[in-house]
Amino acid sequence: MPRALGILRVVAPEVELPLEGGCGCGAVRFRIDAPLEAAAYCHCTRCQRRTGTASQASGRVVPGSFHVTEGEEALRRWMPPDGYEKVFCGRCGSALYGENPEDRDFITVRLGAFDSDPGIRPAARQFVAYAAAWEPIPDDGLPRFDERIPPASADCWHRALGPG
Ligand SMILES: [Zn+2]
Ligand SMILES: [Zn+2]
Repeated sequence: MPRALGILRVVAPEVELPLEGGCGCGAVRFRIDAPLEAAAYCHCTRCQRRTGTASQASGRVVPGSFHVTEGEEALRRWMPPDGYEKVFCGRCGSALYGENPEDRDFITVRLGAFDSDPGIRPAARQFVAYAAAWEPIPDDGLPRFDERIPPASADCWHRALGPG
């Protein structure tokens, strides 16, 4: 088990590989050849706006295991000044994944984009200080962080998902 990822790794017992998913209109499809490494919820306002939901659940992929199999030309990207690049379908607007511009192997895929159980469960909640007023945070026992998951207490959290 990877050193710092122990508490993050909440994997469903039987996940069938490859994992597959795509956008709402079907233009973009992806395939993932290895189990996801980590997952968490982000409650930041950026994630609220770009998804239209109260929080965004994302899972980190093993480097090199993520492949866009259809619709590469439909992808659009938004690079916020202080975060990872947000990749979405330019035809239907579906949020698909985030990518570290300094390390293109570092990808977090939106859990809602999978066709079926992605085989992992989010293990923390970050930016809960900005959580939507209209949806109470579930009493699920997951650790909550007002801001970004602090690298000092768990370096892996930050590495797991990166900035909003
Ligand atoms: Zn689409
Ligand atoms: Zn966020």
